Amino acid sequence: MQSNKIKAALAVAVAFAFSPIAIASGPHWEYEGEHGPGHWGEMAAEFSTCGVGKVQSPIDIKGAKPAKLPEIQFDYKDSPLKIVNNGHTLQVNYAEGSSITVDGKQYKLLQFHFHTPSEEATDGKRHAMVAHFVHKSDDGKLAVIGVLLDKGAENKAFGAAMGRMPTEAGEERSYANVTINAANLMPAGKGYYSFAGSLTTPPCSEGVKWMVMKEPVKVSAKQVKSFQKLYEMNARPLQATNDREIQVSM
Ligand SMILES: [Zn+2]
Repeated sequence: MQSNKIKAALAVAVAFAFSPIAIASGPHWEYEGEHGPGHWGEMAAEFSTCGVGKVQSPIDIKGAKPAKLPEIQFDYKDSPLKIVNNGHTLQVNYAEGSSITVDGKQYKLLQFHFHTPSEEATDGKRHAMVAHFVHKSDDGKLAVIGVLLDKGAENKAFGAAMGRMPTEAGEERSYANVTINAANLMPAGKGYYSFAGSLTTPPCSEGVKWMVMKEPVKVSAKQVKSFQKLYEMNARPLQATNDREIQVSM
């Protein structure tokens, strides 16, 4: 009896150590229920923008105005694979030295991660998944590139990360001998949609430069399923576009 109680107590302690609550900093948030997106703004003062912000992400991309958008100059180098399950998504942390330059401004690639279904919609339709590539300039400005993922042929670059994903929240895996290149996850066409937005997770900070590639990339149904085994749904609902202008490369 006594030892059973101890075992039970140990089981609870072990479960807690691996739970997202134990690893996340700040208030615990989720994609559904009482800690879901509709409540993020009320959960903590530092999350208030999630509730009252007027330039929030994700949005439905429609009615985009054709414009002469500056080319995104990619300078992505190989990075040793470092993948973390942070309790909200799978995130590949990128080695220093890769960047994009847009309109003369350089943004360094920090990480990329995935959502299912896609957070950004096009003409009201959400895609199977989206990859978000998060960049930061030296003066602290964020630029995120979104790549919409549709079901189709298997994707080798996506598979390289998915095949080595950590299954426990809080777990990080590093592979010194496996390199990944974010360029391999980009579509061939480099046209994109451009608009202002925010982080799609708390604290939902605004002032983020969003660029969503026009051409989706294919991943297999099996690859989508393997991600959904860990995260069945990790997409914030669509936010009001308000008076934002959406532009698209001509
Ligand atoms: Zn994201």
